[in-house]
Amino acid sequence: MTITRFAPSPNGPLHLGHAYSAIISHDLAKETGGRFLLRIEDIDGARSRPHLADEFRRDLKWLGLEWDEVPAQSTRLGSYEAAFSKLRDFGVLYQCECTRADILSAGAEIGPMGAIYPGKCKGKDISPDGKAQWRLDVDLASKITGQLKWHDAIEGAQFCDPWELGDVVIWRKDEPASYHLAATLDDAADGVSLVTRGRDLFAATHIHRLLQALLDLPMPRWHHHPLLLDDSGKKLAKTRGSPAIADLREAGEDGHLLAEQLRLQSFPSGISLQNA
Ligand code: GLU
Repeated sequence: MTITRFAPSPNGPLHLGHAYSAIISHDLAKETGGRFLLRIEDIDGARSRPHLADEFRRDLKWLGLEWDEVPAQSTRLGSYEAAFSKLRDFGVLYQCECTRADILSAGAEIGPMGAIYPGKCKGKDISPDGKAQWRLDVDLASKITGQLKWHDAIEGAQFCDPWELGDVVIWRKDEPASYHLAATLDDAADGVSLVTRGRDLFAATHIHRLLQALLDLPMPRWHHHPLLLDDSGKKLAKTRGSPAIADLREAGEDGHLLAEQLRLQSFPSGISLQNA
């Protein structure tokens, strides 16, 4: 029995790319008689707009999906804190005071999800006064775990390569856990067996696999689906004119029909599937 999830952040309305992702995840679970979970990832501080969670539920219902909702991230802060302390006590985290500008001016290489931290604060003596963020020492952590592997349903077996993202932030100074720590812990706590999400998060999985090994969490499998692109070849975004699902719903369109079209990969004009 497969357990999948859809884990939107209420930072903006869902668009066709989210709907496509939710449908893939839903169908992968349901075709095995499994469960499709909805988890609201609402720990993004100022960007989080909690009222959107209700809109998301309406959108998914309108698309004809059925789900079990698990607790939102904002209710799980204690588990993030406990895992953070454990990692810190292992000695695999270090404090970092760098701003984004410091990182860019240090000539950081740009990786698949932004600048790769050049290690400026590694080995620096910073007093733990809560004003610094904490990063994962990927060299040290990988030495402890040894070579790890994971499996993607589309791309097959992968050697874990956490250097693709480098020493990511695990604990933020002004907000709780980073996405990497929170999502990894939640997927384990929710019993997710197939983590289904867009290909834009492929590189993040190397970090998640490393965290699982350090924290002794079970290893799921992954399915990173291709993204929907707009006519300029960029990932769909509300800001670039991709219609919000809520707008289509409120305009009286047929959500079940839209879901069927997305399943058949019949997209509105100007929208295409990555590498299709
Ligand atoms: N909350 C993330 C987002 O909305 C999804 C993370 C994931 O699927 O792992 O982009």
